[in-house]
Amino acid sequence: MKWEGRRQSSNMEDRRGMGTTGKVVAGGGLIGIIVLLLNLFGGESAQNLTPILEQLQQQQSTSAPAQPLSKEDEKMGMFVATVLADTEDVWHKIFKENGMTYKEPSMVLFRGSVQSACGGATSASGPFYCPADQKIYMDLDFFDELQTRFGAQGGDYAIAYVIAHEVGHHVQTLLGTSGKVRQLQQNLSKTEGNKLSVALELQADFYAGLWTHYNSKYLEEGDIEEALSAAQAVGDDAIQKKMQGHVVPDSFTHGTSEQRVKWFGKGFKTGDIRQGDTFAALN
Ligand SMILES: [Zn+2]
Repeated sequence: MKWEGRRQSSNMEDRRGMGTTGKVVAGGGLIGIIVLLLNLFGGESAQNLTPILEQLQQQQSTSAPAQPLSKEDEKMGMFVATVLADTEDVWHKIFKENGMTYKEPSMVLFRGSVQSACGGATSASGPFYCPADQKIYMDLDFFDELQTRFGAQGGDYAIAYVIAHEVGHHVQTLLGTSGKVRQLQQNLSKTEGNKLSVALELQADFYAGLWTHYNSKYLEEGDIEEALSAAQAVGDDAIQKKMQGHVVPDSFTHGTSEQRVKWFGKGFKTGDIRQGDTFAALN
């Protein structure tokens, strides 16, 4: 993807410099410390935080020099911020065309483990979107695993696809689709509920393809293949085969490799948001 030198989103929260034990390891500065405190003490009042804040500031000034992010880490941060900016441009346009206003999500970069309004998570859970705080959480090391463990070919557009998929969940939240699905699932069996989860996930893939359609002026050779390879690698059937050696279709929550590739492709080819009714298609 052609990304260097272009606009980067300002909706970024970089927590990669922070340890998972609650100690500030990199020069996150005051903002970093406040973010950390909010994580640790989400519900507590401001006066309770003040002494801890002072304590942490002292701790930071006396501790060993912080370890800065590597050049590669910095570059990766710039790349994902550019992709996020591109999703903002495209979704503002699509929402406007449909008489609506797009509200931008934020992206949190972390390492190890993280706290979100949806609860705590570790790198093992992979990138995710939390509707409660409208933030996308990403441990960028996940993409190494996508290659080494799940056999995706990698490349920058594999990452762009995953970000666009998570932004797709944000769009579903804004449009009320996710809320409706969660409500319906309360009265359904596990198997029937899983089918709705699959439709939701495939629609996020469709939205990732749709975004790529609108953003195609920045595509480079091989980008679409990278996205399709990533979509293929994260299919439920592919993952189950890798993890347990066999496939249990009723337990699918994201769709098969074939379905994921198909819906990404449909969004990319049509560029038409009305073609993305994955719910009707599954019945
Ligand atoms: Zn998803």
